[in-house]
Amino acid sequence: MDLFDCIVIGSGHAGSCAALSAVEHGCQRVLIIDKCPEEWVGGNGYFTAGAHRTVHGGLYDLLSIVKNRPSPEVLERIDMTPYTRENFASDIMRLGDGKSDPALVDALVDNSRDAVDWLAKYVGTPFTFSFNRQAYEVNGRQKFWGGMVLSVEDGGKGLIAAHQRALEKAGVMVWFDSPALSLVTKGDSVSGVVVRKDGQEVELGARAVILAAGGFEASAELRERHLGAGWKLARVRGTPYNTGDGFALAKAVGAKFTGDWGGCHSTCWDASAAADAGERDLTNQFTKSGYPLGIMVNANGLRFVDEGEDYRNYTYAKFGRAILHQPGGFAFQIWDSKVIRHLRKEEYGDGITEKIFADSLSELADKLAGHGLGQKSTFLETLDHFNAAVRHHRDEYPGLQWDPAVKDGFSTQSSVTKLALPKSNWALTLDTPPYMAVKVACGVTFTFGGLSIDARSAAVLSESGREIGGLFCTGEMVGGLFYNNYPGGSGLTAGAVFGRKAGRAAAQTIR
Ligand SMILES: Cc1cc2nc3c(=O)[nH]c(=O)nc-3n(C[C@H](O)[C@H](O)[C@H](O)COP(=O)(O)OP(=O)(O)OC[C@H]3O[C@@H](n4cnc5c(N)ncnc54)[C@H](O)[C@@H]3O)c2cc1C
Repeated sequence: MDLFDCIVIGSGHAGSCAALSAVEHGCQRVLIIDKCPEEWVGGNGYFTAGAHRTVHGGLYDLLSIVKNRPSPEVLERIDMTPYTRENFASDIMRLGDGKSDPALVDALVDNSRDAVDWLAKYVGTPFTFSFNRQAYEVNGRQKFWGGMVLSVEDGGKGLIAAHQRALEKAGVMVWFDSPALSLVTKGDSVSGVVVRKDGQEVELGARAVILAAGGFEASAELRERHLGAGWKLARVRGTPYNTGDGFALAKAVGAKFTGDWGGCHSTCWDASAAADAGERDLTNQFTKSGYPLGIMVNANGLRFVDEGEDYRNYTYAKFGRAILHQPGGFAFQIWDSKVIRHLRKEEYGDGITEKIFADSLSELADKLAGHGLGQKSTFLETLDHFNAAVRHHRDEYPGLQWDPAVKDGFSTQSSVTKLALPKSNWALTLDTPPYMAVKVACGVTFTFGGLSIDARSAAVLSESGREIGGLFCTGEMVGGLFYNNYPGGSGLTAGAVFGRKAGRAAAQTIR
């Protein structure tokens, strides 16, 4: 029987971090197995924008790790406020309704800055400042917003390419088309993995096994079972291979499940996107995150969320669910010519999505009817009430400045009019043609429920609360960190933080 120091199940970002950390801390024979074919390497990590949320001390704190270091003149024009550990922890807690496990939150937050440094220096991740996604140019200044400032050059493709180079250099073996079928145990500990390789079931020995096999978001059956009725209609944004296998393996050895099993990360996603898997060329470009600058209406012509409730990266992960629950499971995002230029090119550029233009709201309604809008009169009424509410607010607060980079208080709620469903920030009238609309559906990203782990070592805990010897976990499989909603850019950082811990703890088991 082949014996490894450490076997990692899953070749995504979290699994790659774990394998590299295992080597860094002394493991010699490290193997990653993935059930996907080689052309699907990188799991969901490949599909990301590469956004990493981290504690930081402002612009000059991060300069040493970014590739797109701005010129001195541009540096002078950047506003980037520090993001403290309290900011990061309170964002997770606030969005998770206070339910997140404080030990996991502290571990993520306190190790986030060190993790991005490690990714930059040890893995070679080409970080960049995220000008296109996280900053707006306002009055000649580049203003970052929403606490998140780092992306990766070429997004998830650049992230996974860096991992592949680092894994090769570190001598980590990677087997594709090799699903883990079960965990092998000796006494109370895990001592190996049964894998299907070249059509054969093979038992491999391992001193440590790290679970990094993703959530169950790509299984329509498990989505329907855990997330609820209707979730089979969600479109899978990333890899089709995250079908909950890791949880079945862990359950069979008595692992404890925890967290928000009814919750997931889901976003506004192009309604024309495929249902069962992401697309490896356009990847994250099917995301449609321009709603804070406009409004969203459902098939009945009604708004259904406060599009300006918070910065986009604090609302986008829950609005997919809101769309799924609308009639037909779709919605329309709508803007007028005042803001169209602010929409991100990679999501709304020509040839990226179907854009529906019209010179009047009535014409727009007629065109949207061909895409599923059922109630033209309600749609026009919604726009009418919305515009009136915005105008009343403007009359009452003439001194306010519209600013997409801050929560500007441009709202629909004045002493004259209050909409039953407000738009709390960035509310502008939709009255200047041409109008533009895009049809969106719910894209499911990853699931929140997972395994209970020790926050210090990433060891998997058993139902009785003790550590299962030789078994560790990272990435989407970790439960208890996110509930209901999520601050954008936290998933990759969490995968790195707990992956590093798992790799280090795996190495300790061989000492
Ligand atoms: C479109 C999109 C955009 C995103 N953008 C961002 C972003 O910008 N920033 C951010 O922080 N997060 C983002 N995320 C979330 C992020 O991708 C995840 O948080 C992170 O990649 C999870 O890493 P992971 O290694 O746990 O899972 P994955 O990267 O999905 O890896 C899991 C791997 O396990 C393999 N596997 C499954 N079952 C088995 C089995 N039985 N045997 C062997 N292997 C198995 C799968 O094939 C897969 O390769 C995005 C996700 C998507 C889909």
